Amino acid sequence: MDKKLNNLIFVLNCGSSSIKFAILNPNNKKKYLSGLVECLFLSETYIKWQCLGVKYKKKIGSNVSHEDALNFIIDKVLKKQEDILKNLIGIGHRVVHGGAKIKKSTLINNDVIKCIQDAVSFAPLHNPANLIGIKIIIEKYPSLSRKNVAVFDTSFYQKMPETSFLYAIPYNFYKKYGIRRYGAHGTSHNYVAYQASIMLNKKFKSLNIITCHLGNGASISAICNGICVDTSMGLTPLEGLVMGTRSGDLDPSIIFFMNKNLNLSINEIEIILNKKSGLLGLSGISNDFRYFEKNYYFKKHAKRSVDVFCHRLSKYIASYMSLMENRLDAVIFTGGIGENVPLIRELTLSSLSILGFKINSEFNLSMIRGKSGLITEYPSRPVFVIATDEELAIAQETNNILNKK
Ligand code: ADP
Repeated sequence: MDKKLNNLIFVLNCGSSSIKFAILNPNNKKKYLSGLVECLFLSETYIKWQCLGVKYKKKIGSNVSHEDALNFIIDKVLKKQEDILKNLIGIGHRVVHGGAKIKKSTLINNDVIKCIQDAVSFAPLHNPANLIGIKIIIEKYPSLSRKNVAVFDTSFYQKMPETSFLYAIPYNFYKKYGIRRYGAHGTSHNYVAYQASIMLNKKFKSLNIITCHLGNGASISAICNGICVDTSMGLTPLEGLVMGTRSGDLDPSIIFFMNKNLNLSINEIEIILNKKSGLLGLSGISNDFRYFEKNYYFKKHAKRSVDVFCHRLSKYIASYMSLMENRLDAVIFTGGIGENVPLIRELTLSSLSILGFKINSEFNLSMIRGKSGLITEYPSRPVFVIATDEELAIAQETNNILNKK
């Protein structure tokens, strides 16, 4: 066992259908344990984890809930790691939506829990899962109950100008009910932007970049002079890019049509747009990008889905260039798809050649599985792949908040 085991933070990211967790030291960045539970509520739920370099994989069961999965993590994975557990100094929870009231990371107390609860309608798939994680962890680790920190996806967007966050609906809906664009994935966009400032040797506050976080959820942010000036996710994480199972942008009249002409209820439509659309809806087969990579050149539905995905992404990149005040330092690709799928980067950038992008195929093909680096060639505008590390970012933020006390 590592003798320098100290000041560890447990990070919990309870997603809508997955749970990611890690225990790490925020100062030296060493990860002692990390894991992932996938496919909650499906026929087979698996957990994969890695502890002190050893990898494990197990089937948890079928139709597994967040509670079941968290109990498995606590009782079967963490309990055996006494040396690690006794060195925990805090717990960082990823929370997707802070609503209108919470603007930055904060220690969790009853008021904070109420605010997260109040913002459930702004992140209906995510905030309830985040709350389950918070409740169970506080119950199971009472000695750390005052050391739980919520790190919000929405914090990164607090300085977004109202020209970006207002919808063109009666202003009162914003003033009275908080209906505006809040953004999501802020922790990841912030983390890769910071890494980009190091790679480009530029001060963060003079950085002009466009960050594309492409995972099962996907979003894009325009960062000008180190401040996020626009982002694709809106009131909820449903708006914007094409995602694994979410539609992203659409004409709101589609909802009226489905409701009035097809007799679908609002609940049914919400499920269709959140869980049955995106790549899954377009292909009718899968939302896993490994499937699309394999089948892009052979199956029509795979090509169609990927092409719609890239078309939407190119449009966003092109439009965000107009927010860059005369200079774009770089475009960044990150997230499970952004980091691992050269095809997406190639298709997206090839349709942006008119704006000065030229990909280098060799560089592009080599940037996979966590590698970070340039994928364009001179005189192209620079595009980088940068591996995100939301767990590290949440651990560091948690540590900062605990040290401020
Ligand atoms: P989220 O955090 O939103 O759950 P991730 O950032 O983990 O999403 O990304 C998940 C997506 O990335 C999935 O669509 C998955 O298929 C894709 N992905 C992950 N690894 C690879 C890979 N090696 N090749 C192709 N796609 C991958």
